[in-house]
Amino acid sequence: APAAPPACGDAGPRPPVRAAIGLGANLGDAAGRLRAAFLRIDAIPSTRVLAKSGLWRSAPVEASGPDFHNAVAIVETRLDAFALLDALRRIEAGAGRERPYRNAPRTLDLDLLLYGEARIDAPPRLVVPHPRMAGRAFVLRPLLQVAPDATIPGIGPAADQVDALAGQRADPV
Ligand code: ADP
Ligand code: MG
Repeated sequence: APAAPPACGDAGPRPPVRAAIGLGANLGDAAGRLRAAFLRIDAIPSTRVLAKSGLWRSAPVEASGPDFHNAVAIVETRLDAFALLDALRRIEAGAGRERPYRNAPRTLDLDLLLYGEARIDAPPRLVVPHPRMAGRAFVLRPLLQVAPDATIPGIGPAADQVDALAGQRADPV
């Protein structure tokens, strides 16, 4: 979405940053929810979607319920990482996401995977790169579709990580 005029006291325009967002859903019309989520992400102020992966299916990891549908979006944003996360949480809430218990089945899960080359350590609110992404085929395979050269700061090329995850089921829809 186009940039809003700077608010009073705003530090002013910052250079755009490329970020990767992981999308997941395993309740109801999961594929439809992910398609709608791409549009809502593109509507976040000062943010636009540069690339959308295909949809993937994976078995729940540390979670219950039906298969997940997963995807990754690459965005360009002028929001800082915390504001971007807040916007993602609002989209989750708008999709009817409830958090009855940890790892419950979810209508929509949006994770900030990468934010430029930044490493952000502000648990529990925000940790970037997403701490579990390097071990998840359902994150890395869609990420590599849209960003084959993606590097996970502190870890290395995403393409090197995915080789070790051959045993994890994650298939294109
Ligand atoms: P999960 O995605 O691990 O299954 P949730 O979506 O319920 O679980 O997120 C739990 C919390 O993780 C959120 O309250 C959020 O503030 C925090 N969090 C920390 N780092 C990140 C990140 N990189 N992306 C998304 N959420 C994050
Ligand atoms: Mg999440």
